[in-house]
Amino acid sequence: MHNSIKDKVLQATDIVEVVSEHVSLTRRGKEFVGLCPFHPDRKPSLNVSPAKQIFKCFACGAGGDVIKFVQLRERLDFQAALAALAQRAGIDLNTTPAEARDERRIEQLRKTIEWARAHFQRNLHDTPAGQAARDYARRRGLTPETIARHNLGLAADSWDDLLLAARRAGVSSELLQSAGLTATNEAGRTYDRFRNRLIFPINDGFGRCVAFGGRTLADDPAKYLNSPETGLFSKSRVLYGLDLAKRAISDAGCAVVVEGYLDAVLLHQFGFTHAVATLGTALTDAHVKALRRLSERVVLCFDGDQAGMRAADRAVEVAVLGGTEVRVAVLEGGQDPADCLLAAGRDGFGRVLDSAVDALQFKWSQMVTAFGSGGAGAQRTAVEALIEFIARLTTTRGLNALDHGLLVRRLAELLALPPRSVHDLLASARRRLQPVGRSAAAPPDALPEYELAIRGLPAGLVVGMEECFGLLLADAACAELVDDAFAAAVEQCDVWRRLYAVVLNVQDEQGSYERADVIARCGEADVCELVSRACGRVAGTAAPQDLFVSARDRVRLESDALRMAASRQALAATATEAGAADRTFCELLSTARGRHFALAAENCWNTRPTS
Ligand SMILES: [Zn+2]
Repeated sequence: MHNSIKDKVLQATDIVEVVSEHVSLTRRGKEFVGLCPFHPDRKPSLNVSPAKQIFKCFACGAGGDVIKFVQLRERLDFQAALAALAQRAGIDLNTTPAEARDERRIEQLRKTIEWARAHFQRNLHDTPAGQAARDYARRRGLTPETIARHNLGLAADSWDDLLLAARRAGVSSELLQSAGLTATNEAGRTYDRFRNRLIFPINDGFGRCVAFGGRTLADDPAKYLNSPETGLFSKSRVLYGLDLAKRAISDAGCAVVVEGYLDAVLLHQFGFTHAVATLGTALTDAHVKALRRLSERVVLCFDGDQAGMRAADRAVEVAVLGGTEVRVAVLEGGQDPADCLLAAGRDGFGRVLDSAVDALQFKWSQMVTAFGSGGAGAQRTAVEALIEFIARLTTTRGLNALDHGLLVRRLAELLALPPRSVHDLLASARRRLQPVGRSAAAPPDALPEYELAIRGLPAGLVVGMEECFGLLLADAACAELVDDAFAAAVEQCDVWRRLYAVVLNVQDEQGSYERADVIARCGEADVCELVSRACGRVAGTAAPQDLFVSARDRVRLESDALRMAASRQALAATATEAGAADRTFCELLSTARGRHFALAAENCWNTRPTS
């Protein structure tokens, strides 16, 4: 029983998410690395594998699954760590007698499904009808290795083949019904649900069979048929092929999503082992969550018909709301992936995948096609349609300020408009969508607020400060390297001052800090926008402390330049007051001197300050 609760907790928990609540992690290839919290660590020795859902420190040897991590980190025993993670995932651990009965029930369903899988496989390999089905599979391009690897089977051309076999094997007909393997007609007669079909066992992420899909071998109008939803199977959660594709998705840093299991099986056969299939639904949030654990990139591969286009809309939604990089590859001429693979081969299909475009860009080109390219009017209509689409999406589902800032910048790039205009367009589209009389919370105004705050400051200073903040957040050791120039520069912009105050507060309270702690305290839109820009500037950098020193020195140079400009102005304004002018002149001179030293240090110039 505990096993299944442990499974549930592990399934609902992402080790990367949990570890990054304690350690700042950076992606390195298919893994994440960070400073090990279990020994004094100067270089990132802690590795976290999203694919395997384990952590390992190469210096002190600590390692295990996410439960083990929480045990070590919070000094808890197994049960307490499990309980803490269950609570985090919203799983109730208190097992009532009814729930215990459910657990037993699930176990019986599993056994029934496993028995049926073996029966279907025997039908395919050991019966005369099986030969015809294997011939069919071969005509569809499947090799014997593929048939074996994916455990394909055959549902016999009969109303009661499975029913009779179950009776012989002592499997109750009630369990067959609950497992979705039989159905009952209005007259009360029970019959096999899958008849004369090539069977594709559908596994959960752990490789356990939970349902079946069947491709008709005759001309049944229902070409594909899936198990109904059962206690084990929900098509909105399961991705076909994920159990076999996990490793490859993590290695490739990308998942390919197609719509049918035959497509997925063929993709695997042709070496695209990072392919999975949805089971007749658009990508759901649960699907996205499962894929995000393995990689941040998804390529959706659709045929260009109506259903494919609707699926593409969903792709944009996932990209905008889920923080996942989604690309869309469209097959031309009404082909499905299987047709394309068999016609164009591995290389041809690889080119289709390579040609995938960013989901937002895809939606944009759809809009442009829809409204024609007839001059400025059509262009404006297309822009408005896209903005309206995005506004609708983000009004119903909400978006935090950080993601909102990113979205505005991506749209600005795509539409070749200034971010400010995109922001205004989105805001007014949202107002139009807002029901009259209801003053909903204002949409996040991240970009303009921060943009206004830094307006007029030298770009070099802004970049330098944003780099400094990014590095400060990436590595608490950088806080030790803060100097008076940085501290003074922070005062140049209210948003910088507030973010720095948050960093110092967290550091005061905890002795040190981690990026997640700081971000958790940033509520205001403009600060979130600064964090987003700062983190973006230093993403993936290897030696934060060295970089901090050079960013900090750049801030000093820029601040000096700013002060000199101010002094020059003051000098011009006070030219008539001799005494004040002298003082200002001295300030200017001393700043200039400091600046020369700094430049000398920076560039190894052999310049002597003039005095
Ligand atoms: Zn360690």
